[in-house]
Amino acid sequence: MIVGIDLGTTNSLIAYFSEEGPRIIPNRLGKNLTPSVVSVDEEGNVYVGETARERMSLYPGSVAQTFKRSMGTERDYVLSGRHFRPEELSSMILRALKEDAESWLGEEVTEAVISVPAYFDDKRRKATKRAGELAGLRVERMISEPTAAAVAYGLYDKTQDTRFLVFDLGGGTFDVSILELYHNILEVRAVAGDNYLGGEDFTEVMARLFLQKRKLQLQKLDEKEQVRLYRQAEKAKREISGKDQVVMSFLYQEEMLEETVTAREYEDACEELLMKIREPVKKSLSDAGLKLGDIDEVLLIGGATRLSLVRDFLIRLFRKFPDTKLNPDETVALGAAVQAAMKERREEVREVILTDVCSFTLGTDVVVEYEEGRYENGRFCPIIERNTVIPASHTERLYTVRDNQEKVCVKILQGESRFSKNNLYLGELMVEIPRAPRGQESIDVTYTYDINSLLEVEVTVNSTGEKQKMIIKGQENQMTDEEITRRMEELAYLKLQPRDFEENRLVLLRAERMYEEALGDRRKKLDHYITAFEAALDKGEHDEIVDAREALNEILEKEDD
Ligand code: AMP
Repeated sequence: MIVGIDLGTTNSLIAYFSEEGPRIIPNRLGKNLTPSVVSVDEEGNVYVGETARERMSLYPGSVAQTFKRSMGTERDYVLSGRHFRPEELSSMILRALKEDAESWLGEEVTEAVISVPAYFDDKRRKATKRAGELAGLRVERMISEPTAAAVAYGLYDKTQDTRFLVFDLGGGTFDVSILELYHNILEVRAVAGDNYLGGEDFTEVMARLFLQKRKLQLQKLDEKEQVRLYRQAEKAKREISGKDQVVMSFLYQEEMLEETVTAREYEDACEELLMKIREPVKKSLSDAGLKLGDIDEVLLIGGATRLSLVRDFLIRLFRKFPDTKLNPDETVALGAAVQAAMKERREEVREVILTDVCSFTLGTDVVVEYEEGRYENGRFCPIIERNTVIPASHTERLYTVRDNQEKVCVKILQGESRFSKNNLYLGELMVEIPRAPRGQESIDVTYTYDINSLLEVEVTVNSTGEKQKMIIKGQENQMTDEEITRRMEELAYLKLQPRDFEENRLVLLRAERMYEEALGDRRKKLDHYITAFEAALDKGEHDEIVDAREALNEILEKEDD
């Protein structure tokens, strides 16, 4: 079974293609969303999702989150003294999702289609693929998140000849894509985005508003207080949609502080973020050669599109109501499951043909003559430009720059800079050419890029017809099989907590955290129920445990603010 996975900045989901179409697989706690949070304790036990997030306020040094933002970098995360790279943390999420899916489906899951932001470059895509491999999943295909969303929408609702704009504001990334559905062909026309903008920035604004009103400084709060502040800011942010004001409370140095934040104040404070949102929208439209009015439908995905101020902003901008038929948190995972079904060649989905765009520019290094006889080295010559619909094949003819030049080295580069040195080096090809006065000999450089991130480069010497070819796989530069096996073994000593006791553990952690935050009678009450639950756990009687857990849970639900 091939599954579809949305490996999100804030939350991750796993889905499969059932007889009734794509379906989300609930996790061990019965929830569709698994927070993309990982915690490792001193003994090397790994906690994933809600349990890991709950550990944040109690053991801040053992928890990592929003590491998707650092995918493809060398960033080092230290959890309880152990070192991890972003893809290793991601692999722990994937491992938990895989286990959940296997137990739900009753069969082994060995392959996945994983979604990535359209803006992810090759390095980040490779890191994502490696995360899959470290989790024991084959990842032959990745799908960009907006494409997945459009697939999910397109399949349910085949309106013909429609131009969509997919607006994806997740926890930490923002993507805009323009797609066209024409008969059964779904084509991505343009993508744009901002890797450093998302729902968390809106939480940040709320937290800062609170601090400002209280004349407090973030740096003065200790780590636990900061975690609590952001938790309350997140809550207030979610509450404010559709309301005139919210009351945000925060326990600071044994004192419960409360502040009212009005919708107006919050909107004003978010103005800068809304301006930032406008840029990629404009860029994608201009890349696709379209105007705002050409868009027939706006699809919203990503949890942060639930913010009413974001929706209102879009309604004002497009003068139409966005389409929210599908749950914005689940759309991408459902689309990835459809793509998985396409890969399996399931009959139900054969009719949808998918194209994508290349989200970065591929080109080569050239010497340019900027004045008669004066040359500049190291300039980047784009061959397949960003936002070209793929599969695509383009040829560029290059001429010799020196008399009697014998060789040309074609460097294969990826990036947007005018200067080669700032772009990512993917490989090179060397060809020999007959001696001749400069400018007389030429080569044709053809780049062919397909939907599986496979780049084929062919260089032809025009006078001799000699050809050289090179294929750069999306998978290249990845760890070797031995390296992956070794790191898998190293990571294997870290035990993913057994699924069975997850609920008990989560309730206890949550209770402990609330105990720390509470005072007086509230504290006593919590203590009473926690002790009763612990006693039941010690006895090991199933029914008693369930009863005590429910009693404790009820108190927690009532008291958690
Ligand atoms: P995602 O990465 O798509 O899971 O999006 C997560 C982001 O959506 C987080 O920043 C959440 O705070 C935000 N979010 C989720 N639900 C809501 C809501 N009801 N109102 C505002 N923001 C939300």
